This record gives sequence, C-alpha cells and structure tokens, in this order.
Amino acid sequence: MSGKAILTLRDLDVRFRAYEGLSYVLDGVNLHVLEGERVGLVGETGCGKTVAMKATMGILRSPPAQFPRGEILLNGRDVLRMKPSEILDMKGKVVSMIFQDPLTSLNPVFTIGQQIIDVIRFGRKRRVFSGRKQLRAIATEALTTVRLPDPERILKLYPLELSGGMRQRVLIAMALVNCPRLLIADEPGTALDVTIQAQILKLLKGLVDSAGIAVLLITHDLGVVREIAERVYIMYAGQISESGQVEDVFDDPMHPYTTGLLASVPRLTGGLLAEGIPGSVPDYTEAPPGCRFHPRCPHVMEICSQRKPAMTALSAIRNVACYLHEEVSDE
Ligand code: SF4
Repeated sequence: MSGKAILTLRDLDVRFRAYEGLSYVLDGVNLHVLEGERVGLVGETGCGKTVAMKATMGILRSPPAQFPRGEILLNGRDVLRMKPSEILDMKGKVVSMIFQDPLTSLNPVFTIGQQIIDVIRFGRKRRVFSGRKQLRAIATEALTTVRLPDPERILKLYPLELSGGMRQRVLIAMALVNCPRLLIADEPGTALDVTIQAQILKLLKGLVDSAGIAVLLITHDLGVVREIAERVYIMYAGQISESGQVEDVFDDPMHPYTTGLLASVPRLTGGLLAEGIPGSVPDYTEAPPGCRFHPRCPHVMEICSQRKPAMTALSAIRNVACYLHEEVSDE
C-alpha cells in the first residue's frame, strides 16, 4: 500500500522518572499510518501501546515522561517540538482519540448536548458557528450518524442516564464531529459486553470507511484487529516485534511473541485449553537487555540477551525483529 503518512513514529524512546529510578518504556518504536488506512497496534496489557498513543496526542505529562530520542510526526509536524497551543489546535481536526471506558471519558455533571457542543466549538472557528441553534443542529446530526435514536432527547440527558453502548456511541460521535484525519481508538468497547462491542466496532468501521478517516486501533484483542484492521504492528515491552498485513501476520507469524499471542486465543471448536505465554511483561526499570522478549522466548539464543535484533524486511510491508530471521554478524 502506498500513500502519504498521517502519523509516523520514528525511533521513539519514552522513559519515566519514577521513585524506583528511570523506567524505560518505549525503546526505538517505528510505526506509520497512511491516510485512510486502518492499522492495529497489538500487545498484552502493559506493553506500552497506550503510552505511545498518549505521546502522539501530546497528553503525556513531562515530567515525569522524558523523550530522549525520536520523532512523532503528525501530518508531517513533530508533536515533540510543537507548542502546547499548536498541539491543541490539531486535536479534533487532525487527530481524535476514543478511550476505552465510555463512562469515565464523559463528564458526569454536564449534559451530552453541552459536551458535544463544547467539542464542536473547540474544533472549529467560533465565528463560523456562533448560533446556539446551529451548534445544536450539528450535535443532533452527529448523534444521528452514530445511529442513536431520538438524538434531541439524548442531548438533554446526563451520561449516567445512558447505557454503556449509548455512551460509547456518543464518544464516537464526539471524536468524529470535527472530521479528523486520524482516529486513535484505545480498546473501544472493551468495557462493554461482547454483542454491544461487536455493534460498536461495525459502526466505527463503517463511519471511518465512508469518511476516509485513518484509524489506529490499540487493542490486546486479536479478533478485533482481524475484524477492523488492514495492517498490524505487534508490540512487546515497548519494542515493535513484527508488522505486516493482518492476514499474513496472523496466518504465518514470524516472531515467537506473535506465535504465543495467537496460541493464547481460546478456540470455539474446543480441544485443548489455550496455551498462553509463560511469564509476564517485564518491570521497565529493569527491562531485559537485547530482545526484551528473551526471558519468555522458547527459541532464545545467546545473542538475544546481548544485542537488540534489527527490524528485518521480509517484503515491502512485512517486517520482523528476531534473530531467527536475521543473519547474525560476528562483529
Ligand atoms: Fe526469541 Fe531471540 Fe527472536 Fe527475541 S530475538 S524473539 S529472544 S529468538
């Protein structure tokens, strides 16, 4: 796939100063999303996915966050070198984000209408939409787009008066109302039951496809990625381990971590229980040297703990960082 990148993370390191010492969370992350493309970022909880995306949105507080190396290019401009007012200006118009818990993402003391109108005002020039009536009409249309029945009534309600599925639809409406070019969706619908989650994901996919909006979907759920994304990055402990077209990566995984993730998925067809990956994500204040997966890897070799494996291109869009697929030099 070719096209212009709306988001590029280049050699991004993120670390945090904590009481116990420096916590090295992201280690040389490279990732891109093209205009209109749907990309998944997958890994276990605690792998650094949300840190990467909060850094992209410019909402990681610094300190304690530190960015010793790398770039976050959003629409060609480096977020790490922008003024706070410039980052604010990009939100809603260039990039929007949906967080995983629809209840805590909405303010309980304001009505849905007040919150959507604030977002519209924030993302567009006030003088263009000076009339309250016009703002309300846009808010009503936004709720109609996410297929909420009786949108006029919903505008007058408070978040606690809505079900979880309705709140998630409101959040999608708010994220898309200013027509962003990139939507970052962090585990959308995870807090909902599976049937509602499936409806929400189908709705989201339809909306972004029809508007040509690029999506970066952050999740630990491989089924969700297969459903929505065209391309996927697998992340382990702040390092990208593998990337490629979703079918290629899932049907023929190259990295032992991807193989372990796929083996962890329970099968509806029965048989043996899912295997899981022994061990857990490391403490980032003492991140393992070399390949960070080496303490859990069934194929570990001596070199794995000595040097970080380089990302090896297997094809134009298929990459893997593992010594099983790299010629090891003697230097
Ligand atoms: Fe396993 Fe070594 Fe490959 Fe890391 S580089 S995944 S430890 S074989």
